[in-house]
Amino acid sequence: MLWIYRLYSSNDRKDSGRLNKLIIFTDLDGTLLDADTYSFAEASPTIQLLRERHIPLIICSSKTRAEIEHYRMLLENRHPFISENGGGIFIPKAYFSPTAVPTHFKIVSGSRYDTIELGTRYGDLCAVLHDLRQEGYLVKGFSDMTVAEVSELTNLPLHEARMAKQRDFDEPFLFEGDVTDSERLSTAIQTRGFTVTRGRFFHILGNSNKGMAVEILTELYKKQLGEIVTVGVGDSPNDIPMLKAVDIPVIVQNPDGRYDPAVDLPELMRADDIGPKGWNTAIAKLLSLFLPSE
Ligand SMILES: [Mg+2]
Repeated sequence: MLWIYRLYSSNDRKDSGRLNKLIIFTDLDGTLLDADTYSFAEASPTIQLLRERHIPLIICSSKTRAEIEHYRMLLENRHPFISENGGGIFIPKAYFSPTAVPTHFKIVSGSRYDTIELGTRYGDLCAVLHDLRQEGYLVKGFSDMTVAEVSELTNLPLHEARMAKQRDFDEPFLFEGDVTDSERLSTAIQTRGFTVTRGRFFHILGNSNKGMAVEILTELYKKQLGEIVTVGVGDSPNDIPMLKAVDIPVIVQNPDGRYDPAVDLPELMRADDIGPKGWNTAIAKLLSLFLPSE
């Protein structure tokens, strides 16, 4: 029997009512994970509640597959995930019905996942950054840095910095320049047919984004479950496509206690606190709204 059917058909879940149909997409850096320590401890109470209620929590991050697998293990999460700003959708084997998975995408079937690849080849992204550097733009990508440099820059321990360098679809980079320079850089990247976005770093990627990947997974869940309600939680401009693709977009505060001014959507739910602490209270509040009345 398929995992998702097992999840939603057991008798002991009768009490979860409409909660059965809630799907939560979340960013990691600065959202579920503390911007400095990468800890999700402050979100643990609500994460636990989601596990008990069997509500899918879908990680949707600019992080790599290796990094997300690391956090999925810590979170005891067995749901699909979206890597590198929407470059790859990793669906555990036998999670959805095979007929539900759309055939018009590039799908790589591995031993653990069926992967829908939406992103552009990593080598092509690095080549564009190389060309831009030749043109005088002061850009430096993860591929130009050692593991130690990435570790120092990101505050990640060495073994996680190594995972962060195992990239397939998205290259984070540093850029030295003012706002005008960064606008020129954005135009230069876009005219080459690529996309630039911003989270903790600048990122260059192909025409994929978090929103496209969220829409594909949402369709898959709808095929299996019927009507669902989707929630998205983020903190930065690279989350905007994800937040636009969900029914209930949520933004958490940055470490300075403010909301990123670039993320301004109608109906945006603003969490009352920073990163994982805000995540915890905002999702708990949504769960209380969706809890069936006794
Ligand atoms: Mg973030």
